[in-house]
Amino acid sequence: MSQEIIDNIALIQARIAQACTAAGRDRSEVKLLLATKTVPADRIKAALQAGHTLIAENKVQEIKEKYEALKDIPHVNHFIGHLQTNKVKDLLKYDITCVQSLDRAELAQKLHQRLKAENRTIEVFIQVNTSFEESKFGVSPHKVVDLVKEVALLDTLKIKGLMTIGLLSTESEKVRQCFRLLKEIQQQIIALDIPHVEMRELSMGMSGDLETAIAEGATIVRVGTAIFGQRPTADSYYWNEKGD
Ligand SMILES: *Cc1c(COP(=O)(O)O)cnc(C)c1O
Repeated sequence: MSQEIIDNIALIQARIAQACTAAGRDRSEVKLLLATKTVPADRIKAALQAGHTLIAENKVQEIKEKYEALKDIPHVNHFIGHLQTNKVKDLLKYDITCVQSLDRAELAQKLHQRLKAENRTIEVFIQVNTSFEESKFGVSPHKVVDLVKEVALLDTLKIKGLMTIGLLSTESEKVRQCFRLLKEIQQQIIALDIPHVEMRELSMGMSGDLETAIAEGATIVRVGTAIFGQRPTADSYYWNEKGD
């Protein structure tokens, strides 16, 4: 079972390398993040032991459940799910390097309050709803700059870039528009030269569309299904309001 995971990671690495070549980009510009929602700790362990140490969960409850089993294996944890303000305190008990799903000022304020009290900082990405779907989390594209400016004033939150899910569609040109929009917003923010804002990272691309994302400038691709197999739970459980 763990061999299968290692083989799948090798396949994804090959897809990433090929997409980088096709896009004329250096392979070192793109990191692979393992999206581990619903995956049991022993299967995540197999990936970590094989040296793939950047992982992310969508729910605080799942981080909690897997924490003991994974804590002795070196790895870096990001958070990519919808974060309710009342779960912030709980989330910060676990060693999270980056919250990729910061999508509203209220959440930023809550994170800031808690981090201030604990005298620490965290990295954040702003999650953007590039597909304009009601059901998807993320700040609307036209409100990103305002949110970035607000978050930039909070010294516990280190803005590193942007994240998006994008449209889940087999029409790759429509998907491409989402990724292109994220890149445009990134360029717009860079041009504003806002103090304390780094905009190097673009987290976009998943199992089905990582090639398109890399062609459009992704620096982090988030892959679950193509490595760990189909999930028992529909993604709508994680991606819209009903999931809470
Ligand atoms: C589940 C998930 C992924 C990975 O999706 P796959 O299609 O399984 O590769 C990426 N990003 C987010 C935010 C997710 O929730």
